[in-house]
Amino acid sequence: MKITFLEVEDEDKNKVQKVFSKAKILSGVLPEDEIIEKCQDTEILCVFIYSQISQKVIKSLPKLKLIVTRSVGYDHIDLKAAKEKGLIICNVPDYGSHVIAEHVFALLLSGIRRISEGEERVEKEHKFEFQGLRGIALKGKTLGIIGTGKIGRNVARMASLGFLMDVVAYDPFPDEDLARENHFEYVKQDEIWQKSDIISLHCPLLPETHHLVSNKVIDKMKKGVVIINTSRGGVVKTPDLVKGLKSEKIAYAVLDVLEHEKNINDNKELLEMSNVIITPHVAFYADDSMNRMYEEALSSIERFLKDEKLVHQVIGV
Ligand code: NAD
Repeated sequence: MKITFLEVEDEDKNKVQKVFSKAKILSGVLPEDEIIEKCQDTEILCVFIYSQISQKVIKSLPKLKLIVTRSVGYDHIDLKAAKEKGLIICNVPDYGSHVIAEHVFALLLSGIRRISEGEERVEKEHKFEFQGLRGIALKGKTLGIIGTGKIGRNVARMASLGFLMDVVAYDPFPDEDLARENHFEYVKQDEIWQKSDIISLHCPLLPETHHLVSNKVIDKMKKGVVIINTSRGGVVKTPDLVKGLKSEKIAYAVLDVLEHEKNINDNKELLEMSNVIITPHVAFYADDSMNRMYEEALSSIERFLKDEKLVHQVIGV
């Protein structure tokens, strides 16, 4: 079968070649028309989230049978068009939640221990002085977690066992066994806003979580709260976050996701604030997670070729 991989970085090419030596491997994000042109004979397509597999792409690839996305989300694939064409779609539901949880602490500590300011002082200003860079310690502080799914529970465990924090969490579907195993306590949503010194968001972006963090809940928070967002930008209402930061109600915002990721300049105010640390949606991106992403995706293709049951099937017969 003709297999094409899109969006493969140079350092990952050998992962694919080891298993499918004859596969076509393309790098970068191709526009729709180029995907159509380069994949005319493709029967199995393996993509990442920046390739738009639209109705037009699906309709224009005559031999396509299977699409595997190396991601949890699959909103870049037109499922309706795929279903109409009888395609099978597979995803990778968990490529390593610990990797995202670890990034939460990388972001948090770099903010509250003022790592980039310290680095700038030493490397750019050639000053080796600590004055003015006092940080905030984690031990004994209350961490409030919104969403205790795969990532939230990892963050809870790392915070309580590693940093000796008190961890409270809210989830509309609480699981007391999970709370015991991961050393946190479920509370009502309002208590998260009121009690937490640091709040970390781990819920999906849904109509009910869109702009969950807005003036309405920021008003309830402690002065000097720290907000961490590694979930989706839309969970936080950006102008209200900016207002909270300006008024010093929010001491730091540490963000891996933004409401306006496509045009970075739309986040101008956030970018200019020294108490905001932003990374470019990179929390998932580490050695373990990339290995697992490819292993799972390649295994789905192998199973399909052997006519075995597909374990991570999103749609299809
Ligand atoms: P998950 O599905 O395992 O967990 C989500 C949890 O949120 C569930 O327990 C669910 O019950 C809970 N939830 C649903 N509605 C809620 C609400 N209104 N309030 C509070 N909790 C609610 O998902 P996950 O794998 O833990 O991922 C969490 C988020 O992280 C997702 O939004 C995902 O898009 C994002 N994510 C970001 C990166 C990154 O690189 N920054 C990588 C992977 C995932």
